[in-house]
Amino acid sequence: MQKPKLYVTREIFEDILKKLEQYYEIEVWDKYYPPPYEVLLEKAKQADALLTMLTDRIDANLLQQAKKLRIVAQMAVGFDNIDINTATKLGVYVTNTPGVLTEAVAELTWALILAVARRIVEADHFVRWGEWSRTKTGWHPLMMLGAELKGKVLGIIGLGRIGSRVAEIAVKGFGMKVIYYDVVRREDLEKQLGIEYRDLDTLLQEADIVSIHVPLTKETYHMINEEKLRKMKKGAILINTARGKVVDTEALIKALREGWIAGAGLDVFEEEPLPPHHPLTAFKNVVLVPHIGSATYETRHAMAELVAENLIAFYEGRVPPTLVNKDVVKVRPPGFK
Ligand code: NAP
Repeated sequence: MQKPKLYVTREIFEDILKKLEQYYEIEVWDKYYPPPYEVLLEKAKQADALLTMLTDRIDANLLQQAKKLRIVAQMAVGFDNIDINTATKLGVYVTNTPGVLTEAVAELTWALILAVARRIVEADHFVRWGEWSRTKTGWHPLMMLGAELKGKVLGIIGLGRIGSRVAEIAVKGFGMKVIYYDVVRREDLEKQLGIEYRDLDTLLQEADIVSIHVPLTKETYHMINEEKLRKMKKGAILINTARGKVVDTEALIKALREGWIAGAGLDVFEEEPLPPHHPLTAFKNVVLVPHIGSATYETRHAMAELVAENLIAFYEGRVPPTLVNKDVVKVRPPGFK
């Protein structure tokens, strides 16, 4: 049997590609930027399998035209770029990479919390660009004061894998009080970590730091809008390592400009890449990083390995270990036969 064709939308680790080459005929998009939609569409029409990133729009139009396509193996836990309903109807398997990136994203969340609370980026610029020396400040009792974390309240929105790990670090590492909001009460974690449930509005009113960990869905789109931002404490910090569209950017800019909140740490944006001179870049109290939540060597390799496991399982006619659209098995059995 001829090997099925796999189109890979970004360069990934060589050892993973080697492993996949035993099963698939592989073509890789080798540019630093993502394949434009038209290219992706043409490649998808010829492909039996796609290995995708969150920057690839896998919409109904693409899925309907990709007649041979049987599996979309996404290298991310989020899959808001894929039309899951259409994929399921057409019998296209969709997989993601949950779990393996939890630690990396939780750690980046903490990097952002600390960077904003202790003004790390601003302080680095103060030293780097000579301001410290120019002002002859030396050590000053009122210089670069930030917020201490111990005893403060962390509000987690979405107590899933990443949210609960961020909560655990808050309790065990920083001695913070943690409150959370989620669609489901997690009484096991409440007991285990000593954390408490709040409805969203109460959480926003009580928290000193609000950290977002929900997936992007119809329900969570602009979940943090002007009305919600106005509920936050004046001294509060907003952290978003989930998806940009969960926060209304215009409202956030207004909140920062008018001082409704004290600062923000953002890994994700409504528009990625964030254009130069975007209003968010003007705030000293905002730390911006380019969607690097899962960007550690260990995690990116583990994500690629899990993608490969999914693709190999599917090739062998097994249900992939991290299948997103479980109902697809009723439409078509796994495999290329
Ligand atoms: P997860 O385990 O599924 O956690 C998400 C949590 O949010 C779940 O407890 C979920 O409840 C809850 N939730 C869903 N809809 C909600 C709503 N409308 N209101 C309140 N809570 C809601 O996912 P995860 O692995 O922690 O990842 C979370 C998100 O982080 C991903 O979806 C992804 O978008 C983002 N992420 C970003 C990066 C990055 O590079 N910055 C990397 C990885 C992930 P149910 O389980 O009941 O639905």
